[in-house]
Amino acid sequence: MFGLVFGSFLNVCIYRMPREMSVVSPRSACPACEAPIAAYDNIPVLSWLILRGKCRKCKAPISPRYAAVELLTGSLFAVSFLIAFRNAGSLAEQCNLPDGLNPFLLAAKFCVLSFLLLGLIFTDAETKLLPDLLTKPGIGLGLAFSLIVPVCDYTTRAIDNWRVLSLLNSLAGAVLGWAIILGIALLYEAVRGMEGMGRGDVKLMAMIGAFLGVRLTLLVLLLGSVIGSLFGVFLIVWVWLKRLARRRRTHSAESLGVSRRRAWQSAILIYRNFEIPFGVFLGTAALFSAFLGMALVRWYLRISGFGPAR
Ligand SMILES: [Zn+2]
Repeated sequence: MFGLVFGSFLNVCIYRMPREMSVVSPRSACPACEAPIAAYDNIPVLSWLILRGKCRKCKAPISPRYAAVELLTGSLFAVSFLIAFRNAGSLAEQCNLPDGLNPFLLAAKFCVLSFLLLGLIFTDAETKLLPDLLTKPGIGLGLAFSLIVPVCDYTTRAIDNWRVLSLLNSLAGAVLGWAIILGIALLYEAVRGMEGMGRGDVKLMAMIGAFLGVRLTLLVLLLGSVIGSLFGVFLIVWVWLKRLARRRRTHSAESLGVSRRRAWQSAILIYRNFEIPFGVFLGTAALFSAFLGMALVRWYLRISGFGPAR
């Protein structure tokens, strides 16, 4: 329920932040007829279903994205609590916390991260922007959370205060994420002579690093590349098949081989000019890594034989 309410607020952020509007006032209104939305029409998910995705006044369609964001935020908050309560004990043990770890703190960290990432994924998908209003406070929140929930990639006997160590690990994650994406962005600009990754991606990755630490940041970069590559292949093949079908209709005298080649050239051209939403891939990879990352790393170490001997 808590997640659904935050999802509803997140919709306001996703719509207003890239347009540089205040997220506090004015009240929510229909973008088509500007009629203010009554409280009883603003119930997460339910209102969208009851109104069948249309404005009560002007019947303009309301994007299913609103209900989807609410539902996703609600689900991720529920997952946050489930995973936090299952893992708080082992995390405390692994990071040598003398008094254990309150699972509510871990759940809060997961919820905050989910909220920020969902907001960034959807604004990037829709507007190709990653608002500073989410990434910059996100970096601060990630660093602050390390003081109450441990990030313990590396330990040293020189520092016996776990909070100091955790903050250093969080800071290292943020710097690593920031540096790698900035490096890739500068390299791409030098080679191709145009901007590939925006500065928003750099701040997004610094935020992810601050929340997750060095090891999971590397996992996010790996998973993000895999998801992005799969998306790229899917996009090219999809455009190619559509173009091929159209060419077979319009140029029926042409041989299949020629049609295939022409359709392929046009698919590659579209792909080259397509602005790839890296934020969507990195954000999705970060959600996956936050919830399942450590289990995935442990599993990999076990099957590859690199893990600690038991
Ligand atoms: Zn309306």
